[in-house]
Formats: sequence, C-alpha cells, structure tokens
Amino acid sequence: MEARFENLLKVIGLQKYSHSGRLGQIPPYLFAEIGRKIEAARKAGVDMISFGIGDPDMPTPAHVVEELGRASRDPRNHQYPDYEGLLAFREAVASWYKRRHNVSLDPVSEVLALIGSKEGSLHLSLAFVNPGDYALVPNPCYTPYRTGTILANGLVHDLPLLEENGFLPQLGKIPKEVVKKAKVLYLSYPNNPTGAVAGMEFYREVVDFANDNGLIVCSDNPYSEIAFDGYRPLSFLEVPGAKDVGVEFNSLSKPYNMTGWRVGMAVGNPEIISAMATVKNNVDSGVFNAIQYAAIAALLRTPDSEIGRLNSVYQKRRDLVWETLNSVGIRTGRPKATFYMWCRVPERHTSASFATLLLEKAGVVVTSGAAYGRYGEGFFRMSLTVPDARLAEAMGRIKDALA
Ligand SMILES: *Cc1c(COP(=O)(O)O)cnc(C)c1O
Repeated sequence: MEARFENLLKVIGLQKYSHSGRLGQIPPYLFAEIGRKIEAARKAGVDMISFGIGDPDMPTPAHVVEELGRASRDPRNHQYPDYEGLLAFREAVASWYKRRHNVSLDPVSEVLALIGSKEGSLHLSLAFVNPGDYALVPNPCYTPYRTGTILANGLVHDLPLLEENGFLPQLGKIPKEVVKKAKVLYLSYPNNPTGAVAGMEFYREVVDFANDNGLIVCSDNPYSEIAFDGYRPLSFLEVPGAKDVGVEFNSLSKPYNMTGWRVGMAVGNPEIISAMATVKNNVDSGVFNAIQYAAIAALLRTPDSEIGRLNSVYQKRRDLVWETLNSVGIRTGRPKATFYMWCRVPERHTSASFATLLLEKAGVVVTSGAAYGRYGEGFFRMSLTVPDARLAEAMGRIKDALA
C-alpha cells in the first residue's frame, strides 16, 4: 500500500479539501522535490551544481527557432490545431522513422502528435486500463509510467531492472495471475535512469510475450539519438510483428534540445493510436501549429553532423565523469546511450545518504536512485546536461570531498 501523503495533510488539518484516492497515492513529483532543495541551498548562498534533472543545456538548433518565428507570424497558425497533429507533422514523423529506423508508418492512422511524450502514458492508461488491471512497469523507471497507471485507477506490477540482467526485465518471472490481469507493458531503452540498452533479441522476446498474453507494449524511446562510440539504438518497431502489439513514444525534447517546446509523438498500432487520440480529443486540443512546423524543421532539416556534434559533447562529459568517479572508488558503467550515469553508492551508504553527502560536502546535486523505485536503491543518477566548465568544476569538488 502506498502512503497517502496528501490525505494525511487533510486528516491533520493542514489541507481543506481531501484529494481523490488516485492523487493520494502519488508521491511529490521527483524533480519538484529536488528543485526545492536546490532553491533552499541557493537562497543560503551555496553555489550548487545540479546533475539532477535530464534537461539539455545546449540551445535548440537555429533553423528550428527560425521556423517557429516564421510559422508564428502566419495567422492561420493562430487557431486551434487539429488535435491529432498537422498532417505535415505526421508525414515528417513517418519519413523520419523510415529514414532512421527503416520503419514504415501510415501518417494518417499510425502517428499521433503529443504535447511532449510524457502525457502519452496517462492517455494510454485512460484509453485501456480499467480498475484492477495491471500495468507491468520497470523499476527503477521514469515515473510517469507508474503515476499514469495510478491516475487511471490501474495497478502497478514492478519489473525489477537488475544490474546482473543488464537492467532488462525478466518477463518469465512475472507471476501468472498478474500476467492474466495485465494490460500494458512499459519498456524504455536506451534507459533512463540506468543508461542500459536493449537489442533485437530482447525485443523479439517482448513481441512473443505480448502476443501470448494479449498485452499492449509501450516502448518509450526518447533517447534513440543520444548514443556514443558508434552505437545506434533500435526502435522497438524494427522488430517484425511489433506494430501488431504496441506503440512507441518518441520526442523532440532530447535530440534537438527542445524540452521546453512540448512536442513528441506516439507511433505504431493504429487501434492503440486511435484510442489515445479519442482521449486526447477530450482532454487537450493538440500542439500549437507553429511548434509543429518547427518540429518538422527539426526532424527533416537537422544535419546528422549536428546530432553527432551534440553527442560528442555528451561523450566527453561521460568520459570525464567516469574517470573522476572511478578515481574515488565509485563504480559506474560507461553508457552507450542516454545522457545518464547510473552509479553505485559507496559501501555503507544509502542512495539518500550519499546524495545528501554530495550536496553538503561538494554542493553537487544528484538524484537518489530510490526516487525511481525501490530497485534503484543503492544507486544515484547523474545527468550529463551540465555545461563543460561547470561539470569540470563539479568533478574537482567531488574529488576533494571524497579524497
Ligand atoms: C525526457 C524523457 C521523456 C520525454 O519527455 P517529453 O515529455 O517528450 O519532454 C520521455 N521518457 C523518458 C524516459 C524521458 O527521460
């Protein structure tokens, strides 16, 4: 049973209105909490360097910003957008998937614009999950899979992501009675927070498992372009039969430094896309058309060399953090993709105690692994979205603090 934080406030008289049971089950949003800690320290005059939130520090490419300017001056773009996205946007997504992954998508029935891919999890849950249905959710994970399920009155079954399994879930270990009541399986590789990647063999197993058990697969793939050492992440939809059992979410946020713009997409199985679109049509009214035109420019007109340049910045940072942490005895992988380092806390520390130590001794903010679920305990996450000079400064401080 999850703690009912908010309703507790009501009971002790600090809050006037009782929240729904759904909201009561949701812990405070991870980054809101970190944000408050940083704010308090900043007010106290501490020079903090935050590796907390995964939010690219580099600017959106100029051609994308220009396109927003142009499109925003066209009065036709000032009216309500089509809730499912401009056809031109959906065509751009389809052509990007074809070029990048050799996946064919029908822009009309197999692509849906999202206001950032985060909202996709809730809308998928509202479309398919009934009270008492399970969602199979990796643990640790990006929290919206879990909270989206809870907000739809669904139940969460944790799939432990363990280091010894390369942070892939063991589908064969899910109890049969849970599988019977499960509706959705969430996956996300390259993975936030662990930086792990998945190969074709794993995805084939996923397709078979979903077919055998009538599951909807949701592959969340916002890091498909952030990769190093020549590695090229797959799309789940590259696997034969994937489109029969699932959808993929993707987003402009990470590859094009567009987190603030709020634009992403769901692609794949037309029946799932159509049900999500029905929910969205009743909740929001789509993405500002001018932003969709800018997104088209990002998808179709960003040279590969630009993505390569951004990746080489992250790769250098990854190597510097890896060397520094190793030199002070902290064990961490050297991820092939994503801008996250998933690191073991030193012995005799918990995730929270070590995050607090880095905060107090080095003025460095990291995320406690436990914030992503209980199987994240014993780890902390560092996001490589910190400008080079500040990152170097932080590495010096960590060395001093832990020497
Ligand atoms: C950043 C991120 C997203 C993208 O979110 P947007 O809402 O598109 O900005 C989705 N999933 C994961 C796992 C992420 O880390």
